[in-house]
Amino acid sequence: MTFTQIDYHITHSDQLSRVGYIKLKNGKKIETPINWVGLSVAESSDFQFNAFKKAGVTSFLSNVYDLKYQDKKGIRDDLINRLVDEGLNHKIDSGGFQLMKQQITGKKKFDLNPEIVYEIQKSVPCDIGVVLDVPIGTESREDKVINKIDKTLQNLESYLKIYDNEEDSFTILPVIHGHDIKKLDYAINGLENIIGELPKALGIGSLVPMVKAVKNSSSTGGKKNFVNILMYLRNKLPKTFIHAFGIGGTMAYFAYLCGVDSIDSNGWILKASRGVIQLPGTSDRFLRKKSHNRPYLLTNRKIRGTKKTINEIDLFMKCKCPICEEYCTDGIWSQHDWVRKRDDFDQYTVESRMKRVVHNLWLYQTELKLIKQAIKDKTSIDFIGKRLQNSIYKGLFQEIVKKMDSDQTNLSNFL
Ligand SMILES: [Zn+2]
Repeated sequence: MTFTQIDYHITHSDQLSRVGYIKLKNGKKIETPINWVGLSVAESSDFQFNAFKKAGVTSFLSNVYDLKYQDKKGIRDDLINRLVDEGLNHKIDSGGFQLMKQQITGKKKFDLNPEIVYEIQKSVPCDIGVVLDVPIGTESREDKVINKIDKTLQNLESYLKIYDNEEDSFTILPVIHGHDIKKLDYAINGLENIIGELPKALGIGSLVPMVKAVKNSSSTGGKKNFVNILMYLRNKLPKTFIHAFGIGGTMAYFAYLCGVDSIDSNGWILKASRGVIQLPGTSDRFLRKKSHNRPYLLTNRKIRGTKKTINEIDLFMKCKCPICEEYCTDGIWSQHDWVRKRDDFDQYTVESRMKRVVHNLWLYQTELKLIKQAIKDKTSIDFIGKRLQNSIYKGLFQEIVKKMDSDQTNLSNFL
């Protein structure tokens, strides 16, 4: 059973990280790494359209579950058409993850199958359609996990029976799952058997339980296993385009470091509604001290393990995004500028939320550009190291770098 796979080309590499491009069936060429920004079910169509445009978002994602069961009035359908008309790239996830969440919460209302997924993906303009997968959670029983991997492979087989390789213009992305090498090998072998060759592109799912503090998440091996899995995949499939599902925020730096070519950003919706902004290499910050006392912008934030400090307010004031630029000219700002900006950003209004959203989304785009440039300059380890210098994961970063230096994971010669 053959189908036109995503065609992947590497143009630059630095340790495990790479820059390249994918070529799709519809003739589109997209530079990698890619960051797909998720659509929101909470924000209005106009809000999202304007935010994506202002922030310079180039790729977005939707999912079948939402389009089929939540988008009753076709609002997201309409938004998708508008964004695609503007030239944005579009990936549609299958909704397998949403189905799993439904099952965990015990509120199983809807179902999906390969036919439904295909019909929805066909009904809107899209570049990449993800095949329906069955994610693995924190279950540890071997037979249950294998069962889910088999089900994902069966879904691909069913999907390929209805997918029209001649007519359909979008490209398929198969998905694998596995929390250890044995399962990953099993899934990759299964995939190879179905498509008749090594996968040129795949998505790796079920990473979320490793990076989030969910119940029983320690059984998945946590963040250390997350990076091990990515490094293993990168080594095993050096010429394959790898998309990591559900990995955003600080973990995105680790994904790029381990050679991932594509990630999703869904966190922007929640972050904006909670009232936080982000800065390069800094996790969520509120604009001012709140009753919950979560971290807010400081002029003298201590850098872990050193006596140095970072002036977060200065960093925020000097942001060059389309929203921030009006508060600071030529890198100079006054106390008055800061107070005005803080008050503008810290309101419970749509306008204020829009400011936070554009600032945060613009930052994701800019970080991605900087990472690409660093990979081209072969300085990506330094760049990511600086971004993680004040993170609680600095130790994990150092471990990875050590590992890359000491064993065969250095792939800089594979081109
Ligand atoms: Zn900004």
